[in-house]
Amino acid sequence: MRIGDYIKKREEEIMNYSSSYFHEIVKIIDEEILAFEETVTLKLTSSYRVDVSLYLCQMAAQKFAELYEIFQKESDPIIYLNSKKEDFFKSFAISYQGAKSATTFADFLCTSLNSAICDAIYEKTAIDIVNVMKTEDPAFNGTREKLEINLLIHLAKKENFHKYMDYIYNPSYSMAEFIQQRINNYCLNKRNPQLNKFLHSHLNTFKDLILCAINDSTRVVEDKGSNVSLWLDEFCSRIGDNLYLPRHTLSSIEHQEVIGIKLIKEAVSDSLGHVLDDLERTFSETDLDPFFAKPHEILFEQVSGCMKQCPFCKAVCTNTIPDHDGEHGTYFHRPLAITGVKWEGTNNFVIDICSSIAASDSTFISDGKKIPCKQYRKAGADYAKWNIQPSTFPQFYWKWFVCHFRNELETAYQGVFEAKGKIPHDWENVSRDEILFLMEIDHMYKLRDEILMEIEPIYKLGGFRQKLLTLFSPQSSA
Ligand SMILES: [Zn+2]
Ligand SMILES: [Zn+2]
Repeated sequence: MRIGDYIKKREEEIMNYSSSYFHEIVKIIDEEILAFEETVTLKLTSSYRVDVSLYLCQMAAQKFAELYEIFQKESDPIIYLNSKKEDFFKSFAISYQGAKSATTFADFLCTSLNSAICDAIYEKTAIDIVNVMKTEDPAFNGTREKLEINLLIHLAKKENFHKYMDYIYNPSYSMAEFIQQRINNYCLNKRNPQLNKFLHSHLNTFKDLILCAINDSTRVVEDKGSNVSLWLDEFCSRIGDNLYLPRHTLSSIEHQEVIGIKLIKEAVSDSLGHVLDDLERTFSETDLDPFFAKPHEILFEQVSGCMKQCPFCKAVCTNTIPDHDGEHGTYFHRPLAITGVKWEGTNNFVIDICSSIAASDSTFISDGKKIPCKQYRKAGADYAKWNIQPSTFPQFYWKWFVCHFRNELETAYQGVFEAKGKIPHDWENVSRDEILFLMEIDHMYKLRDEILMEIEPIYKLGGFRQKLLTLFSPQSSA
């Protein structure tokens, strides 16, 4: 994630490529690997470092090649002048054509309007999408905890171990991917394409605005002696707050002695019609790729919050403010086996939940020192900032996860669920569908009693009710 952020930062700066970028990337990778090794008891080999560095540098090289091209386009005078060739030609044509020049003038203006309209509509639509997601999507219209529960439901539905590893070790990436998928499902749904609705609605608004600006500018300028430059001044000031069309970008067409302002009005209205028809066709087929500010990135910024991870189980802090004051905390602590923690001197996993271990008389090893779990804050900065409270999140979710991915966990961490790490029999009683059913009931633990009263007459299954009661019981969450 940090490499992605680094590349993005360079892209935003639009500077020329420098070979020092790769030195900085390798430095970040080294820091990340070192920080990772401090949190676990294993040591990564140097060939692993080389492989990771090569992979990430290769990815960065592609991005930097694109960056270099963009920089060249914007900074090289020959390339820049070449890109303006068409503008200069149109300007010349306007002077040369005399009375016919109204059409050329209108084409030039509408070409500039085209990209300004496009940018403005994408920007407004991105904000609309984010606002709708935040009011209508149950994953984003409640607390940070509710978002986490929805992400866990999403992962259980996928049943993919690698996606869970992303969630545990790269939670920002996992959440960004979840948000993007959620937005795509909403916007690009073939039966109900919401994206098209937003785009077309804004297009209609801009159409009215520009036609109004054309009419008003013509009326005002006719009274003042039909000057083209003045018409452009009036026009730009009328659309100024809604569209980015700087007046100076139109300077090449402002000195034309055009043939009457009425002709300009007709030609621009006519040319605008073609531009709007083209945009309508483009919007009917587009996805979110052309958006400069992507809705999923904006939404991620707004809902992700702190994202610091518990030093024991890697659960993410649920504070909604990044870099917040005070201590980190979460309701979502989980069994330590999920992050590969084992009992000292054995390869038996620790299946106890992180918050129980933090309150127990056990000890753990940090930087080669034995530290009582109850005094975990003494183990360094990452530990000192955490307030590890008992988890209120029902643990049946992680019990299902451990049983379902038992083999994958054993392979990934080279450990076994034996002796003190033996999985209790009752962990295997819960199926994925039962978990999904229980998780999808909004605020399940708060509404437990009402839910049971509602569903009992429907199911009339004593065993099912008993099972639910067991799953929700405090012992089950401890
Ligand atoms: Zn934890
Ligand atoms: Zn926090």
